[in-house]
Amino acid sequence: MKAALVDLDAGKLASNRRRIPTPRPAEPVAMAEVFHELREHFSYEGPIGCTFPGVIERSATVRTAANLDGAWVGVDARALLSVEHAPVTVINDADAAGIAEMCHGAGRGVDGTVVVITIGTGLGTAVFTDGHLVRNTEFGHIEIDGVDAETRAAGRLIDGGLSFREWAPRFDRYLETIRDLLWPDLVILGGGVSKEFDRWGEMLRVDVPVKPAQLRNHAGIVGAAMTVA
Ligand code: BGC
Repeated sequence: MKAALVDLDAGKLASNRRRIPTPRPAEPVAMAEVFHELREHFSYEGPIGCTFPGVIERSATVRTAANLDGAWVGVDARALLSVEHAPVTVINDADAAGIAEMCHGAGRGVDGTVVVITIGTGLGTAVFTDGHLVRNTEFGHIEIDGVDAETRAAGRLIDGGLSFREWAPRFDRYLETIRDLLWPDLVILGGGVSKEFDRWGEMLRVDVPVKPAQLRNHAGIVGAAMTVA
């Protein structure tokens, strides 16, 4: 779990990023404690934008939590995390990263269909049509050869020992499927491995315009802050 102060005008972090390992099991109360520890670290008392790696309704009720504890499903995340004078806005992590990339990064000024994919523990997607976000898309879980795509092509497989040479063809296959379903005008690749795009980007064969995220893996934090009312 990580946090930073954000300069909204510049679309950049305005402080160092503070990181605390996600508690295991990743249950709501344990994670809320880390959330407050992060908030207190910055001695910050204003509104907070927070991302969540699952489907989250506008009311902030969690609907899915593929890589966290199942106890999250049904939780009102805003009620859990808000404290007096510090209301919290909660949005899907990939949607947040997408919002930041469309405004300050690789998607700036791009019309048509743009798909932002965050490659990390899971595969997150944010879909934009002429700059408008279609919230809560979950294209990381499409089935390819009967298997949830995220389990074969997420960034965690690299952390788990796959080389870029082994992983890239899997991700390429995933991108081909995204192309066949959405025919995007642009695909922006974010998340931790986007920092190393130079090492694997040229291994992709798919004929769809692909760019690395410009905000790299800061996009989620910047996008979260942008959603604060
Ligand atoms: C979740 C998505 C999330 C993605 C990246 C997936 O497993 O279902 O909601 O955006 O991981 O964290």
